Amino acid sequence: MAAKKTGQHREEKQKSMAPYSWLIALVLIALYGLYLLVSGGIGGGSSSAPTDGEELRVLFIDVGQADAALVTCGGESLLIDGGNVADSSTVYTVLEKNGVTHLDYIVCTHAHEDHVGGLSGALEACTAGTVYCPVTDYDSKAFRNFLDRVAEQNCELTVPKAGETFALGAAEVEILACDPEAEDTNNTSIVLRLAYGETSFLFMADAETPVERELLDAGTDLSATVLKVGHHGSGTSTSYRFLNEVMPAYAVISVGKDNSYGHPDEAVLSRLEDAGARILRTDELGDILFVSDGRTVTLPQIDGT
Ligand SMILES: [Zn+2]
Repeated sequence: MAAKKTGQHREEKQKSMAPYSWLIALVLIALYGLYLLVSGGIGGGSSSAPTDGEELRVLFIDVGQADAALVTCGGESLLIDGGNVADSSTVYTVLEKNGVTHLDYIVCTHAHEDHVGGLSGALEACTAGTVYCPVTDYDSKAFRNFLDRVAEQNCELTVPKAGETFALGAAEVEILACDPEAEDTNNTSIVLRLAYGETSFLFMADAETPVERELLDAGTDLSATVLKVGHHGSGTSTSYRFLNEVMPAYAVISVGKDNSYGHPDEAVLSRLEDAGARILRTDELGDILFVSDGRTVTLPQIDGT
């Protein structure tokens, strides 16, 4: 645009200022170039543009046959699930080690114990901002304990709606799914897509094929650099059609060693391999830390980069 204007400007002035017009044009072009350089260049356009030196860190915590992930960006923190009740101390220690004393956001993806149980430990270690959950009540001791810890902090559970977004530093988190009415508790799962520059993470919680189908039918952008594989790698999730849209470079499976469910399912592993994803499992690797600079994702503790 500015270059075109400069061209018109030059034509108009050519008659009266012919000897200097080329010089003025040159200066204007140089100034425009300088502006582009300072403003971060052409084609920025992303709503989640990282600022220089700011890193997004996504730590999948090894909580055995359960889920827990700590996400930090620009001094803000998000905890997605907390593992089982027995993982409370693990989660507490991870938060302490990472110097997190306040969780801006806590997402309890759904009410099953392997997701809500250890959140009590998190609420003992940290103060909390917004606490998302698909339901505000569930008949289990683990959920009641979680509710008590939330109430102690004078917080309330917020049931989000699909399409809502929130910022975490320069990253943007979108709630893709949350269906409190779903018959199967797994399918009430809050599904999140986190975008940071050109990199993205898709957290499927325990959502199964019906949720995947709904997201596909709605034309939701599911593309992701990293996929937190749904339902611990169970065969009830991660359909071919779904994977074709996600096309992850990395697939994280949060799963316990020799678990009684037979997770991850061989067919799911084979589908992920067919999609060309690098599979990373907490039962084999323990904690899995991703770092994104907005352009690329690295695994410093696993690849040593
Ligand atoms: Zn689960």
